[in-house]
Formats: sequence, C-alpha cells, structure tokens
Amino acid sequence: MIPSSPHPSRADASEPLVSPPDNGALGSDDRVVEGVAASPGIAIGPAYILERESGRVEEESIDPAKAAQEKERFEEAISQAERALSSIISVTREKLGEESSAIFEAQQLMLRDDTLHDAVVRHIEEQHSSASYAIEQVMTQYRRRLENSDSPYLRQRSDDLLEVQQRLITYLRRGELLADVPPDTIIISQALSAAEMMLFSRRGIRGCGLDYSGPTSHVAIMARALGLPAVVSLHDLSEHVETDDMIVLDGIRGRVVVRPSDETIQTYQERNRRFQEIRTQQRELAPLPAKTTDGVTIDLHANIEISQETDLLDDHGADGIGLVRTEVLLLLQGSITQPEDVQYKLYRQIVEAAAPRPTTIRVLDLGGDKMLPLARREHNPFLGWRGIRVLLDKPDLLMPQLRAVLRAATHGPVRLLLPMITTRAEVEQVHELLDQAREELSARKVPFKADVPVGIMVEVPSVALQATLFAEVCDFFSIGSNDLTQYVLAVDRGNDLVANRYSELHPAVLALIKRTADAARAADIPVSVCGEVAGNPVATPILLGLGVDQLSASPIYIPGVKRLIRRISHADARQLAREALVLSDAEDVQALLNDWFHAHLGHLPLGLDGDTLGARGPQVASS
Ligand code: PEP
Ligand code: MG
Repeated sequence: MIPSSPHPSRADASEPLVSPPDNGALGSDDRVVEGVAASPGIAIGPAYILERESGRVEEESIDPAKAAQEKERFEEAISQAERALSSIISVTREKLGEESSAIFEAQQLMLRDDTLHDAVVRHIEEQHSSASYAIEQVMTQYRRRLENSDSPYLRQRSDDLLEVQQRLITYLRRGELLADVPPDTIIISQALSAAEMMLFSRRGIRGCGLDYSGPTSHVAIMARALGLPAVVSLHDLSEHVETDDMIVLDGIRGRVVVRPSDETIQTYQERNRRFQEIRTQQRELAPLPAKTTDGVTIDLHANIEISQETDLLDDHGADGIGLVRTEVLLLLQGSITQPEDVQYKLYRQIVEAAAPRPTTIRVLDLGGDKMLPLARREHNPFLGWRGIRVLLDKPDLLMPQLRAVLRAATHGPVRLLLPMITTRAEVEQVHELLDQAREELSARKVPFKADVPVGIMVEVPSVALQATLFAEVCDFFSIGSNDLTQYVLAVDRGNDLVANRYSELHPAVLALIKRTADAARAADIPVSVCGEVAGNPVATPILLGLGVDQLSASPIYIPGVKRLIRRISHADARQLAREALVLSDAEDVQALLNDWFHAHLGHLPLGLDGDTLGARGPQVASS
C-alpha cells in the first residue's frame, strides 16, 4: 500500500492531527504528528520555530553602541537590493523591453538616493532604532509626501518607494532569521524555500519539519541533497510545538514526536543506529551491477544538486550522473548568472569525479517553484515562463552555459539535458544555439567537445504523447516524473492540500511512461526516469516493466533500488506493468503492488530503518 501518497486526505484535516501514538514502540505520553517523509534520517533535539514574516515592522530600539552595526546591516541590505534589481532589469529588458525596465530603474535610483539614505542613517543614530524600523519610518514619511503631490508622476512613484522599502526590510529580516537560528536545532516552519534550506544547513541544523510542501518539492530535494532529515506536509505542526520543545523528527517514516518520553528517545536512538548500519551494509552492494535475476542490467544514476554529492557516487554504486540540477548548483554560488569560466570549472569538477561514467548536465530549469528573478509575478508559474522557455527568450543565460558544458565534455562523457520541452522547435533552436556556441569556442581556440548527446526531459504530457516525433530529434529521453505527474493529474507537486491526489504510479502516468519508453526503444535511444519515484524500490518493478532502462535518484536511494533489482526478474516486472496499465486508479495499483511483492519477495521492500515500507510508509523518500 505504498506508492500512492500516505498524506492525510483533506477529510483527515478535520481530525486532530496531533494524535496518540499509533506505534507500540513509542511511549504512552508521546504526541505524534504524521507527515510525509521527505529526506531520510532521524533527528533528535530541541525545536526552533521559524516565524514567518508578518509584514509589519515593530518599533524596536537598539543599544546606541550597536548603531554602527545596524548601519552596516542597512548598507548590506542596499547592496543586496541593488544586485537583485540589476538582475531584474536585465531580464526585464530582454523579455519585456526598455519601457518595462524603467520602473525598476526608478527603484534603483531611489535606492541610491542620498537624501533617503542619510535620513535612515540619522534615524538609526538619533532615535536608536533598528534598521528595519528606521527604513519604515523614513520611507513612509516620504511616501506620504509623494502621495500628496500634485504631480501624477510623483504620485505613481509612491508605489515604487513602497517596493523598495519592502525589499530592504525583507533582506534585513532574512539576515535576522539566519542569525537567530541556533545550531543543533530542528527547524519547524510553515514553509521554506530551497535556498533557505541550504542557508540553514550551513548553520548546522539537525533537521527540518514543514507544515506545507510535498516530497517532490524542491525544498525536499534540497534537504536530501544536503543529507538533512526532513518531514513535510505536517499541516499545523508549527502551532503545536514551541521553540526549545524536545522533538524527534523521523524522516524515514514521515512523522514528528513532540515532547517524547525518555523511552521514545531511546527507541529512536536505536532506530538511528540501525539506519546508519543499514546504510553501511547497503553500500556493500556498490561494486555489483543492478542486474535482474534473468540477466537485464539497469543503469542506476545519481541526481546531483551540490558538487559534494559526487563523493557519494562510488560509495553508493552509481553508474553515472543522470541529472545535474544546474539551477541549484549555480544558485549555491550566489547567483544563477555565473560567467562561463565559473560554470566550466564547476561542471568539470563533477564530470571528472564521475568519469569514466557519464554525467548528464541539465541546463537551467528556472521558474515554477524555483528561483527566477522575474519582473512580474505569474498566476500559474508551473504553466508559465519556465525551463527552456526562459532560456530561449534569454540566450545570455543559455549561451555561457552551453559553452561551459561543451568545454567540460573534454574531461569525460557528458550529455546535455533540456528541461520543460514542449515543442520540437525548441529542441531545434537549442541545436542552432549549440552551433553558435561551437563557433564561438572555435574562434577563441578553446578546447571543447563538439558532439555531446542532447536529450530532453519528458515532463509535459504532450511530449510523452508525441514521444515518437521527439525521438527523431533527441539522443535520449529522461522522464521527469515529478512534473509529469503534476501535469497529468493536475495536482501541484508542492501543495499538501492535494498531496493525497499526487501519485506517480497512477495508471495514467504509467501509460505515458510506457508510451515514452516504447518510442525510445523504437528509435534505439536510452530512456531514464529521473524524478523522485526512481529512488523508491516499491516503484522499481513497474518502472522496469514499462521499459525504462535507466533510473536516476538521490545517491542515498541507489543501494535500496539496486538490492531490489537484483532480487526480481525482468519478465515478472513486465507482467506486473501490463497488469498495472489496465487498472483504473492509484489505489488499485497500490493493491496490485502489495500482492505482487508478497508473492515475489514474501514482503514489501525494506525501508532505511530495516522495516518494510508499510501503509503509512514514505512515498518516495525511503528505500
Ligand atoms: C522532474 O520533474 O521529475 C525532475 C526530475 O525535475 P525537477 O524535479 O527538477 O523539476
Ligand atoms: Mg521537472
């Protein structure tokens, strides 16, 4: 009963979410909040509740001796805002023309306005107020003056000033948030961005529990890359816990125990020990191939978000890198707009770590729930300016990346992967830009590899439906099951309110995976699945049976999937897939899998705590 989501349904939302323990191993006074496992591991320690911004700035005085520090914070916020606005201006110019970028240029001028600047500094010095409060006071006063002006032009500028004010206050708060997070705590919050998760990990937090988000959201993917235990979809956990409350966060089973008894803490310490032990044991499989009992070998690749993850390739027995999410990699360098040389060095390091195994580098997949310095908010970002659409509109983002990839390809086998493709014309356009990149590199006499295989993410239903046509212009397919599922079922992958409707093994999703795999086989090109389901051993037999010949997942999941593959036959997997394809919904597929595993293995696959993946077991976050 695993593969569909174990999230509480909307009907469950009216039930008390803090429930008595459902597991005999826990102490009788424990309060257990069920969520969804997002990154495996067990964290035990004090909670730190991260309050989200209320939007209001409270009056706050500071120690006069700290005025210099406060002024520095103000200057730093100005620099951050300057950087952000410059990048917004360049994107806007490109996308919407000079006229639209004028708004942001006006905001930039306001940021540089000496009168405003000096007034804020004076407020900090003379009123001993915090930088945020000084900004709010000074800028509100200026805005009132603008609003009362006779000039329509000046009245309009008031909105710009408000944006500048909010931007500065946001940067100041982000700094405060970060500074306040004590190390060795478990962060509990309503939501976090992937970038915040990364910043907090650097503060030495032990884990993270979020009220919102699903296991395939980018914040969850980031937690896995960082090796931080995480549970998501905890609904209103942040209201049931206080800072410094002792908690156990179980990122394997997807639950949080609030104020656990000593007995429970001991139980979890023991589980943690077992988790570490199993991970060590699993790595013993690393040198062995992922070969089924009837001799079919599957390539198991790793998804990489941060360069340090390449250290895990050997240990976990990866046959290559199936997905480098470059948007995350570059963002960790401070900005996605990195010069060609910086990108080349980063990719080269990864390619060399993987060689002679292949590395699949995906060009920037911006938009959706990932960072994009957008000039305007989109109502439906997942259906909007995303992935290849951004890059083709903005070749100054794509070109340095293409050149860097071609150069990195001289250090080991590299494949180039294009995200969010919806038309063949997009693929053809990238090929034209690749020609241009080759010409530029030749003219500069820089070494590069001319012919890298170019493949696409199959993550939009229309592409899967027309896979035969796309196979004519692609060297390989990589099925992005995270997005494919959300687009096929019309279920936002990051929204916990509908998470119970999100299932990568819904027969409709399976049908599109099959169609893609069939087209790939007919065209004799490889097909992989690189969404989170690829790391779930419960899904492995069906994916193999549908004709997928490569799987790519976070390195930690590779051993569990490999262990499973080595115990099943491909012929049985194909029969299973045939049966699943004619079922009507995800629940039927769950039931089928339950029976299938009992018939073929005698039990469900094991999780990282050595337990079978049971009815409330993690959907994708355990192996
Ligand atoms: C996917 O959509 O399955 C995928 C692998 O890409 P991402 O999660 O980065 O959108
Ligand atoms: Mg995707």
